[in-house]
Amino acid sequence: MMIEQSILEITAELANARNIIIVPHKGPDGDAMGASLGLWHFLKDKGHNPQVIAPNNYPDFLKWLPGNDQVIVYENEEEHCRKLINDADLIFTLDFNELSRAGNMVEPLKAARAVFIMIDHHQEPTDYAMHTYSDAEMSSTCEMLYHFIEKLRGKNQITPEIATCIYTGIMTDTGSFRYSATSSLTHTVVADLIERGAQNTQIHNNVFDTNSENRLQLLGTALNNLKVIKEYNTAYISLNQEELDRNNFKKGDTEGFVNYGLSLKGIVLAVIFIENTQENIIKISFRSKANFDVNKFARAHFNGGGHINAAGGKSTISLPQTIKKFEEILPQYREELIS
Ligand code: 5GP
Ligand code: MN
Repeated sequence: MMIEQSILEITAELANARNIIIVPHKGPDGDAMGASLGLWHFLKDKGHNPQVIAPNNYPDFLKWLPGNDQVIVYENEEEHCRKLINDADLIFTLDFNELSRAGNMVEPLKAARAVFIMIDHHQEPTDYAMHTYSDAEMSSTCEMLYHFIEKLRGKNQITPEIATCIYTGIMTDTGSFRYSATSSLTHTVVADLIERGAQNTQIHNNVFDTNSENRLQLLGTALNNLKVIKEYNTAYISLNQEELDRNNFKKGDTEGFVNYGLSLKGIVLAVIFIENTQENIIKISFRSKANFDVNKFARAHFNGGGHINAAGGKSTISLPQTIKKFEEILPQYREELIS
């Protein structure tokens, strides 16, 4: 948790900082981009010179966010980004808590002379930042950004653009306000954001109702591949490269697919395995109900992490081997999965 002392120090840092870099995690999602752009507007309005640098590209369903046009992608403009990182006075890292989650940006970030500020709601933060605002009980980094702005006495500077960005991240990270980290405080924040100009219906529409036909067909393929292991209250989906290519896969198309497994009655653990032959990895998403801790599971077996009920990881063996490995691990968790 952030101590009030830290806020005083951050206020002092902000008083002198001009060049500020804002970094979401690799494979930015709604929370990472919402927080980055919400903070970008806030700092810009205060007269700083902020710049959002995303480690890599992100889905089209986030590209309507206000301020999106100024985002630059590290992988596309490495040289330029390195210079910006080098010249930064302050660097905010948002929605992640270990530097490796910044992908190829790790090296320039490590070399930067800037003061780092982390705002994040994942478990087990590492200590690379001078100021760490970490709270694993928070629904989202966007909700934390709202509280952060409040602590900086900036609530009245929340414009409709900022409200829209923050609303989007809270909405996507809470599965539209249904996951267990959604608190009454979350709803209070969301109510205030609507008061301040977030167009809630429009935001839901922009994120969820802009599917392509290809994406729905890919969902059909994914659901056809669904395997249920009743014995362990587990369901998993896999998509290989051929299936992705056949359905004209675009970044973001598989977002949310993993949740279909969890919608089956009695299922406690849902997983999706997605082959990526270009990067030579299998990207894995884990979702769970109640006390089954997928952060621990992903850390222990699949080089990943996240939250208790939502985590990610990866594997460098083949897709069938990865699935086999997964199935062989399950018996170790029998007690937790069936209780
Ligand atoms: P997703 O499955 O949607 O990619 O990620 C679920 C959650 O786990 C997100 O909060 C995400 O930031 C986190 N996450 C995903 N992949 C990784 C990973 O490889 N390492 C860590 N530490 N966290 C991850
Ligand atoms: Mn998040």
